[in-house]
Amino acid sequence: MNSNQKSVTPPNQPWKSLEVPSQPEGYLSYYYSDDLSPLPVRWVTKPGDNKSDPNIETSTYGLFSTCSPNMRKGVVKNGRPYIFFVTNRNGVRVLTGYYHIKWYIEGAFSGDWDFSIAADKMHFINPPISMVEIGQKFGSNLTKFFRTHKGISYDTCCKLKNLLDSYEDSTAFYLEEIDRLERFNLQYGEYRYIGWKQKDKFSWEYARKYLEPLFKESCEQLTPQRVKNSSDGDQWVCSACQEIFINKALLRRCPNCGELASLQPLQKNTGEP
Ligand SMILES: [Zn+2]
Repeated sequence: MNSNQKSVTPPNQPWKSLEVPSQPEGYLSYYYSDDLSPLPVRWVTKPGDNKSDPNIETSTYGLFSTCSPNMRKGVVKNGRPYIFFVTNRNGVRVLTGYYHIKWYIEGAFSGDWDFSIAADKMHFINPPISMVEIGQKFGSNLTKFFRTHKGISYDTCCKLKNLLDSYEDSTAFYLEEIDRLERFNLQYGEYRYIGWKQKDKFSWEYARKYLEPLFKESCEQLTPQRVKNSSDGDQWVCSACQEIFINKALLRRCPNCGELASLQPLQKNTGEP
């Protein structure tokens, strides 16, 4: 069997099973949602910073983006399989759905912080539930502000999961909506994901570009050093092909040559340290 035929979908290698304790904890995870959409899907059309996570097309997080590295690391290192997704709709924080993470893989960035995680179950609802209502039901600490993610107890995970499971699963509608927003990008910006010149939809077939290099080389060979994940002026240079890109977030893969973990913040000759 040649490598083109090998499945990159978990539970196949090199995905590993997440080890979890008997009463595992979880996270609330904040994402930017798209205000062009009636559904609270991720912000596909965000100018200069199109969002690819949570990637419900593949039920993964951090496979295509470098978002929330500390949460991804916490899922793997602390065996926390539950991620409950929160976003802002018209100034109100809402709970939209969850992942139950079952697998992980070490990503291309070295330093023991970069993990891609994949779910065996996901469930997204519409309309979402206001976090004020969640706080009234399950405790006001759930409504306290957090920036990217926040740890929650096993008990809270069970309550949130049961609540979300009691509503019809609308993931299929979310997927349709993501496709519609991507076609909007395609029409006005030539690409479904303009910042990294991606014309394809996300899929496990598309994920080969991100996963197959990991089969062949160890992480150490791919990346000699930890890279900063922000850049002044949002400018990045690829260490493999020297192309320069503008994007708010650090990209996982070079849009020009396809190398993984090759982008570095562009150093400007301004005399700054
Ligand atoms: Zn490149």
